[in-house]
Amino acid sequence: MRLSATSAAAPAPAMAPAFRAATAREQRELRSRGNAKVAITPRWGRVVLGLIMAGIGIGLLAGYLPGVAPLSEQVAAKLAAEAGTTIAKINGARMANELYIAASIAAGALLGFGLLIAAFGAVFRSEVETDCRSCERTVFALRGSFGLRCPACKNYAKVNWLSVAFTTTFWLTSVSMVVVLVVLIAT
Ligand SMILES: [Zn+2]
Repeated sequence: MRLSATSAAAPAPAMAPAFRAATAREQRELRSRGNAKVAITPRWGRVVLGLIMAGIGIGLLAGYLPGVAPLSEQVAAKLAAEAGTTIAKINGARMANELYIAASIAAGALLGFGLLIAAFGAVFRSEVETDCRSCERTVFALRGSFGLRCPACKNYAKVNWLSVAFTTTFWLTSVSMVVVLVVLIAT
């Protein structure tokens, strides 16, 4: 641990030397220098999961969905005439318009979020230097589900909206993946 638990309780010196708070720019520079010390440790599970999700998304968009896209009346009539069957039979093998739109959105989400998950997984740093908003110490905080966790006071040092978005996205994508599978199995 880089910090002693007692430092917060230590009294401030009575005669503090002239103190100039670091400018925002200096803080940013110090922070990026601190973060450069933390090695990137890729999360290969996320990279693989993300690429699988993106692959399924591409497969659906390029392979499966075009074959079940709803047809215009003219095209359905033409195909039925060519195959010597009825328009109802041709349309029966196609998705309803609403289902097709929903499936396309889900497939696009799988592709987009899958790539994001893989990219974030590839450049993952487990620790980030930050000022804890709870105990006001500068710490190397650990990444949690919704932001950075302070190792000194165990609270969230910073709620990171990107992390919140990422976690939410992860679960939404997982759910949409299940929905897509259920729809595919049911049809
Ligand atoms: Zn803290």
